[in-house]
Amino acid sequence: MEILLKLLIVWLLVSGAMIFLYARREIIANWREPVLRRPVMIIESDDWGAGPASQAVVLGEIVRLLADFSDCDGRQPVMTLGMVLATADGALIKPGDNYQRQLISTRTHGPLLDAISSGTDKEVFDVQLHGMEHFWPPALMAASECDESVRVWLDSAPGALTEELPSPLQSRWVDASVLPARILNSVEVRQAVKEEVAAFQDIFGCTPGVVVPPTFIWSEAVEQDWSAAGIGVIVTPGRRYETRDESGKPAGEGNLIHNGQAGENGIVYVVRDVYFEPSLGHTAAQAQDALALKVELGRPALFETHRFNFLGTDEKKNQSLEQIKNLLQDVLITYPSLAFLSTGKLARILRNRDPEWVEQGLRRRLHALIRRLRELPRLRKLAWLTGWIVPAGLVWKLTG
Ligand SMILES: [Zn+2]
Repeated sequence: MEILLKLLIVWLLVSGAMIFLYARREIIANWREPVLRRPVMIIESDDWGAGPASQAVVLGEIVRLLADFSDCDGRQPVMTLGMVLATADGALIKPGDNYQRQLISTRTHGPLLDAISSGTDKEVFDVQLHGMEHFWPPALMAASECDESVRVWLDSAPGALTEELPSPLQSRWVDASVLPARILNSVEVRQAVKEEVAAFQDIFGCTPGVVVPPTFIWSEAVEQDWSAAGIGVIVTPGRRYETRDESGKPAGEGNLIHNGQAGENGIVYVVRDVYFEPSLGHTAAQAQDALALKVELGRPALFETHRFNFLGTDEKKNQSLEQIKNLLQDVLITYPSLAFLSTGKLARILRNRDPEWVEQGLRRRLHALIRRLRELPRLRKLAWLTGWIVPAGLVWKLTG
C-alpha cells in the first residue's frame, strides 16, 4: 500500500514536471495575466466613420439606449467606436488615375461627428483608431484594375461600405491585391501610421490611445510605428495574424496573446474574443453565457459588435438594439458588481495591476489559473491521461 502511494507520488511528480515543461509558456502566461476581482464588460464596435451618412441616426439611438443603464458605481455602459477616418473618393478617381481620399470632416460627416461627440460627452462612446482606411489604398487600386467587383465598388465610393469589399482587401497592413498577400514597405507603413494618427488628432482633438488593427492583421513593424506615435493599447483577438495566405485566410499567427501582456515596444494588448453580432443570430442569452465564463476566468468580456449590425433595414437595426438592451438588462441583474469600462481604462488597470481591480492574493490567482488551464484542450487531455485532473480539481475547490 505504502509502495503504491510512493509510486503514485513519483508518477505525479514526473508527469507534472513533463506537463509543465511541455506547456510552460502557456502556464506562465496564464499565471501572469491579471485576474479581475469583478466582472467587466465592454462593447467594442468597429468600422464607424467613413461611408454612408445614415450611420449618424443609429449612433444617436445607441447613445440613448446606453445612457439608460449604469453599473453600481454609476458608470454608463461603454461602446468603443473603432473609427475609419477615410475612404476612396470614387467620383474623383478616373481609370488609370491615382488614389484620391475622402477624409471624414464636419463638412462631409457633420451629423455623424455630432452623434459621436454627444456619446463621448455622456461617456457611453470612446473613440479608438481602426485605420485611416479599411484597406491599403495601393492594393485597392491594383485590385480595381483586374477585379470588376472592386472597380464597381470604387465607382460608388465614398458612399460604398468597405464591408462589401473582398475580405482580403479589407486588411490595411498587407497588400492583398495578390494572394498570398505581400508584406508592405516599412517606410510606407511608417508614413501611413503618422498620417492616420495625425488625422485622428485633427478630427477628434486627441491622440488615439487604443488601436484596433483592421481584420486583425498587423506586423511588428506597424506595432512599433503605432507605439512611436503614442498609441499605448492594441485590441487583439488573442493572436497576431501577419498576412493572408493563398486562399485569402488570415495567416502567420504568432503565439497566444493575453490580457495586459506588453509587446516589445511597451504597447499593452487586450483580448477581444466574444462575438456578439445580433444580425448574425447571436443572442443576449449567448452573450451572457460568454460573460459568465469570462467571470470564472477572471477576465474581462470584450464583445465584438460591428457597425453592420445597425446598417441596412430597420428590422435588422432594431433587432440589434433590442439584443443589446436585453443583454444590459440581464447582466446587471445577474452581476450586481459588474463594471462598465472603456478599453483604454481597462488596459491601464491591467498594466498597473491596480489592486482595486486586480487580485493580488495567491489563493484567488491559483484558483483562476487552474480554471484557465482547463480551457486549454491539450492540457486538459494531458491532465486526464496522467491523473493530474484529481489534484488540480482539489486545489481548485479548496481555493474557491
Ligand atoms: Zn473593421
